[in-house]
Amino acid sequence: MSAHLHDDPHAPIEENPEEPDYFDVLQTAIRELLVEKGLIGAGEVRAMIETLDAHAPALGSALVARAWSDPDFKERLLADGTAAIEEFGIDNYDGTELIVLEQTPDTHNLVVCTLCSCYPRPVLGLPPDWYKSRPYRTRAVREPRALLAEFGTTVPEDVTIRVHDSNANMRYLVLPMRPPGTEDWTEEQLAELATRDTMIGVTTARTP
Ligand code: FE
Repeated sequence: MSAHLHDDPHAPIEENPEEPDYFDVLQTAIRELLVEKGLIGAGEVRAMIETLDAHAPALGSALVARAWSDPDFKERLLADGTAAIEEFGIDNYDGTELIVLEQTPDTHNLVVCTLCSCYPRPVLGLPPDWYKSRPYRTRAVREPRALLAEFGTTVPEDVTIRVHDSNANMRYLVLPMRPPGTEDWTEEQLAELATRDTMIGVTTARTP
């Protein structure tokens, strides 16, 4: 391997998708060691990557569309998110507890992991880079209203913002408010409005 190791690991890493960066090399080295020592099998690594790739925001969008269309399902989703996503056919592969938070006219929920990058991966796939960034993790707690404004989301002063800090065992998913004027929309149409960012709480669902 033409190891592209930097002398200084804190030096900025140039973005060249052709060349492995510092973390690619580190990741490969650790994975090869774990396999060599017999702690994990190469097939397990492949299967896990396949699982990760199979989970994407489209699952969450379909879930929200179902909740918007079926009040009984919505009730079950809010009462026990983990059981409801399994009922919906989503493999809760990481065994975490899922708590679903309903946006209301009075309360705007926002999800963060202040420590690292905990995220409802079974429902939304891998988190976006900004979610893992230090500015997002700190500002979500310190000044959520200003942070949301930068996402183009103006939360009125009389609406309470609740920030939910995810952790290794507990993950949060936001159930956005169903936009008005969508009463006779199909679940497929509704799913288009339930974007990834609405389920993190950085934006709200809107009709186009
Ligand atoms: Fe985390």
